Amino acid sequence: MQLSKYNITSKIKDSDDWFVINALSGQADILDQTAYNQLKDISVDNQELIENGYIVDLVQEKRLFREKYLKFLDDREKDEVQIFFVTNYSCNFDCSYCYQAGYEALPVALSKEVTDSFFDYILKEFSGRRKYITIFGGEPFMNAPRHKENIEYIIQKAAEHKLEIAAVTNGYHLEEYIPILKKGIIREIQVTLDGTSEIHNQRRYLKGGDPTFDRIVRGVDLLIENNIPVNLRMVVDKQNINNLPDLAQFAINKGWTASPLFKTQLGRNYELHECQANQQKLYSRLNLYEDLYALLKTHPHIAEFHKPAFSVSKFLFEQGEMPEPLFDACTGTKTEWAFDFTGNVYACTATVGKHGESLGTFYPEVKKYTEAVEEWQERDILSIPKCRDCNLSLICGGGCASMAKNYNGSLHSHDCRPVTELLELGIAHYFNE
Ligand code: SF4
Ligand code: SF4
Repeated sequence: MQLSKYNITSKIKDSDDWFVINALSGQADILDQTAYNQLKDISVDNQELIENGYIVDLVQEKRLFREKYLKFLDDREKDEVQIFFVTNYSCNFDCSYCYQAGYEALPVALSKEVTDSFFDYILKEFSGRRKYITIFGGEPFMNAPRHKENIEYIIQKAAEHKLEIAAVTNGYHLEEYIPILKKGIIREIQVTLDGTSEIHNQRRYLKGGDPTFDRIVRGVDLLIENNIPVNLRMVVDKQNINNLPDLAQFAINKGWTASPLFKTQLGRNYELHECQANQQKLYSRLNLYEDLYALLKTHPHIAEFHKPAFSVSKFLFEQGEMPEPLFDACTGTKTEWAFDFTGNVYACTATVGKHGESLGTFYPEVKKYTEAVEEWQERDILSIPKCRDCNLSLICGGGCASMAKNYNGSLHSHDCRPVTELLELGIAHYFNE
C-alpha cells in the first residue's frame, strides 16, 4: 500500500487544520494535526484512509483511473455542444484593455447565405447532439439595420430548429434588441459591467470616449423585466478590483441579485491575443483569488453578488461531494466550436479569427483540416507529458490548450493551475464556519 498519487494535501489558509482531497476516489477531508500526521505515516494501519482512497494499492488505483477515464470520454460524447458564431469582429466600444483591438477590419460581412451555410453545417455535423448557439463578436448587437437583420435571422432560424441562443454583448444596444430577442429561445445574455459608473466608464467607453454605464444598466433591467436570463460579467484587474464591493452593492440595491434570472461571473483580464499595454495591472489567477479572499472577508456582501469557485471548493461546499475527475479541462473541438462570418471554423473563442488557427471552412465550401482537428481532440492529461505524473491533474485537467500553445509552443503541453493554493483559500472561505 502507498499514498495515492492523486492526494492533494495542504494547510488551510488562516487555520491550524489541513485538508486532503483526492479527485480519483472522490473524497475530501479536513484533518487536524494528529490526523494529518497519521496520513503521512502509512506504516500505521488506518482503515479509514484506505477506504477513502488516500492510501492505495497501485494496481487497483490504475484500474480505477482507467474506469473513470473511459466514463469521462463516454459522458463527454453525450454533453451539450456550445457553438459560438461570430457575426462580426467590429465593435462600437474602444475598451482600454480590448484584446480584439489587434484584429484587422475585414472586407467581407455576414449575409443570409453564410448564415444558411452555418446552420446547414451545424445541423449535419452535430446532428443527434444536444447543442446551443452563442452569438459572439466583436460586438454582435450593433445598431445598424443590417446587423439587426442578421441577428434576427439567426435567432429565428435557431428557433425554427428549437435551438437555444445565448449572446455575449457589451450591452449598449440591448434596448433596441429586446424585440428581436423575444422572437427566440434565449438561454442567457452575457453583459459586461466593469464596476460602478465612474470606474466602468473609465474602462468601457464608446469609440470617441462617451460613457456607456447608464445604457447598459437600463439594458440589464429590461432583460430581467422581459424574463431573459442575464449573466453579468465583470472583467477584473488590479485597477478595478477594489470597486467589486460597490458593484455588488449596486446590483443588490437594483434587486438584480434577488432575481433567479440573474447570475454573475468574474473574468480575469489577461493577455491572450495582443500584448497588453500595461502588464503590471494584470492578475495571475492566484493573485486574483488571494485578493478576492481578502475582499470577501472585509465585504461579505460580495457573496450575494458572486461566489468564487476557488477551484473545486465551491462545488464541494454546495454539492456536498467532489466533482467527477477532470481528465481534460479544454472544451475546444470536443464540446465547443467557434464559427465566424468569413466561413471559417475554429476550436473555440480563444482561437476564433486568429491567423493560422482555422480548422476548416463551412462557407463557401465545406473543408476540414483533419490533422489539425485531431491534434486538438487528442489533447488531455494523458497526452501532455508534464500532466501524466502531476497530482493535481484530475482537478486541473491540463488547463487551456490555447494558452499552453502560446506559452510552450505546443497544444499538447501544460497550462498549470494553482490548484493547491486555490483550495487553501477556498476551503478556508467556504468551510471555516
Ligand atoms: S483552448 Fe482554452 S479557451 Fe479554448 S476551449 Fe480550450 S480551455 Fe477553453
Ligand atoms: S497543467 Fe500543470 S498543474 Fe495542470 S495537470 Fe498539467 S502539470 Fe499539473
